[in-house]
Amino acid sequence: MTSARQLPLADQIAMLSGLDVWHTQPLPDAGVRSVMLSDGPHGLRKQEVGGDHLGTTGSKPATCFPPAVTLASSWDPALLHEVGAALGREAAAEGVAVVLGPGLNIKRHPHCGRNFEYLSEDPLVAGRLAAAMVEGIQSQGVGACLKHFAVNNQEAHRLVVDAVVDERTLRELYLAGFEHAVTQSRPWTIMAAYNAVNGTFCTDHHRLLTSILRDEWGFDGLVMSDWGATNDRVAGVHAGMDLEMPGSGGVSDGDVAAAVASGKLAAEAVVACADRVLHLVDRAPAGPVGDTDHEEHHELARRAAAESTVLLTNDGILPLSPDRRVTVIGAFAKHPRFQGFGSSLVNPTRVDTAWDALSHRGVTQDYAPGYDPVNSVADEALIADAERIAADADVVVLMVGLPGVDESEGFDRTRSGLPPQHDALVRRVCAVNPRTVVVLSNGSPVTMPWVDQPAAIVEAYLGGQASGSALGDVLFGDHEPAGRLAETFPVRQADVPSDQWFPGHPHQVEYREGLAVGYRAAETVPAPLFCFGHGLGYTTFEYGDVSLNRTRSRSDQPVLVTVPVTNTGTRTGSDVVQVYVHDTTGAVVRPRRELRGFAKVRLDPGQTEQVVIELPPRAFAYYDVASAEWRVPAGVHVIEVGASSQDIRTSTELTITGTAPHHSTESSLTARSDTAFAARLGRSIPIPRPDRPFTRLTTVGELRLSPLGRIVRSGLHRYTRGQFQQMADGDDLMAERLAGALDEMPLRAAVLFTDGAVPWSALDGLLALLNGRPLSALSSGALTVGTFTKRLATGLRGRLGR
Ligand code: BGC
Repeated sequence: MTSARQLPLADQIAMLSGLDVWHTQPLPDAGVRSVMLSDGPHGLRKQEVGGDHLGTTGSKPATCFPPAVTLASSWDPALLHEVGAALGREAAAEGVAVVLGPGLNIKRHPHCGRNFEYLSEDPLVAGRLAAAMVEGIQSQGVGACLKHFAVNNQEAHRLVVDAVVDERTLRELYLAGFEHAVTQSRPWTIMAAYNAVNGTFCTDHHRLLTSILRDEWGFDGLVMSDWGATNDRVAGVHAGMDLEMPGSGGVSDGDVAAAVASGKLAAEAVVACADRVLHLVDRAPAGPVGDTDHEEHHELARRAAAESTVLLTNDGILPLSPDRRVTVIGAFAKHPRFQGFGSSLVNPTRVDTAWDALSHRGVTQDYAPGYDPVNSVADEALIADAERIAADADVVVLMVGLPGVDESEGFDRTRSGLPPQHDALVRRVCAVNPRTVVVLSNGSPVTMPWVDQPAAIVEAYLGGQASGSALGDVLFGDHEPAGRLAETFPVRQADVPSDQWFPGHPHQVEYREGLAVGYRAAETVPAPLFCFGHGLGYTTFEYGDVSLNRTRSRSDQPVLVTVPVTNTGTRTGSDVVQVYVHDTTGAVVRPRRELRGFAKVRLDPGQTEQVVIELPPRAFAYYDVASAEWRVPAGVHVIEVGASSQDIRTSTELTITGTAPHHSTESSLTARSDTAFAARLGRSIPIPRPDRPFTRLTTVGELRLSPLGRIVRSGLHRYTRGQFQQMADGDDLMAERLAGALDEMPLRAAVLFTDGAVPWSALDGLLALLNGRPLSALSSGALTVGTFTKRLATGLRGRLGR
């Protein structure tokens, strides 16, 4: 492999930014190829040459596997490995070097617009499943990319927000999954997130990208920016942010070259980043490798969807016997929601609808849409029609869920429930026919004010392109719904522990709930609607007594937990055996129980398996901020084994020997008051960035604060409106929300998104004008407002699609 040191400085620098939206910069004279990166987390989104960022110009057909939320509900690393390998095969066949996924940010709040792309609220589930997927992808000779590093848990203000989070919460919750996946699966790449963490943008964050990621965890791959996330390229190179994506048309090259020339940036930092780009190019395949069997991948997508479907309630109606006649209600049966919107959008090779799948089985009786699949506005006539056909039905399969606008990159959900039309439909259909099976299509928890009415509730999530046939398999028992929730379903929004602080001020979000996320908050919030780990199957399991290979242990020893599990039902089925630890030592305030191990077992009727799960020392440790170390407190830890976070079947005590720890003075997981939060941060609570003076981080929306700014802002909206409408494909609300996301863009994008057509001097000139300093504006070479606006709009249109 060429070493970057042998190349001229200009070439080294050139490699640190992409060639375009999807490729790295080639250096033909030095024999360095360009390699291609493509989304995404659950299917390949390979765009042809000249592609745009958000995919409105379409991408090559590829298998749309179930998104992360769904796959995670399988709790099955082997399945994620298989899906990863299939994704890797599709990438290799298309000559794509790196698949931009999986995404493993923690689901801090059910409203995050991208929850469907993330695995879990728990870092062990997220970390293990992400590692399995990375290994699967990389088994095909292409790279994976863990994203978005780090603390990117909301879409609102994601481009500018600073996540203020205390060190212990950061380590134990928000970094733990990444740590696991990095150390266990050695991903080729990782993506630095848009947001800032504790005052520094992730793309400039030396501590995150070098001290923690490389020095502590031993990461030996490449760090790339999220698309357009570059804040200060010079700081980024110093931080170890190797590759800026997309390229910025040489703007960053100039900045980096000037910084090296002035001595502000060490030439060694450039070499280090360039070497990592070279290493990526070196390990990437030289061209397309192998073929894709789309039929086979479709079948895998179908099995994965069924394996991940969660049966929430069932009065015994499921599985349906083959002679049942099914009346299908719900437009999603014919217009399925099977993936979310944004950069993860896959152009599927085919789509199985539930209606077609059930019709092919010859079991369908009647159909009514019940709502409009796109906007779901109130429509009494559609409900009345549905009620009428439901009344005489043998069984009703009622498909409801979230419309597309609730699940998109770029903005968060605005409500916790289904559209009122869907809720009303469930209530009224169940009232006329209690033999109703409700099937949910959504990528994040929803509230269910009608939860006791249906005979069964099936959480099908977003099932990928084979979701319809997978649903048929599950309803008729060809495949059991083998999923368990990897997240908590609260009864109401107010029960979400972070709700008060989500999504925060546009420039700052405070993580005051600390570790109290999802089931970790169980002690402090009302009982959930459905708890983490919950899911029924078509059989039953009995757990015998748990035993340990030792009941006294040193703090550096792993412990083996053994529990006999028996299938006591009449069908073959699987269960997820979950091991939680309850720390009774009082050394630090901890959640009542935390998941520390799990295993999926599949058993025939009457069969018993001794399930053995190893708990490494880390399973008992907390992060001690004062010593910057993981510490295992001596004393009694209760090992609890169960079928969900609230269904503990057997438990036993483990005594960890050593000096008894000091007892913590903190008594609550949540630092509600300013004093408590500041004490936990170890510094005063930062003051959110003010909206004046105008700076490179001012957002387009904040331009509203000045008359001149309003002109620029409305020009930008005018020039891009058509683009958003085209992207939203007839969904007006979606178009409106996408345009709303434009308001969150920081002005620095004016330079980076226009490949320098708006130079920094012109942006600074405009800022001077906005700040009432016309003389400095003149000296900095301002463009006219009209030219500025037009150039930025053109740059944006290029990014969004022509
Ligand atoms: C997303 C990433 C994605 C990238 C490339 C960004 O907007 O945040 O997840 O990989 O675009 O499409």
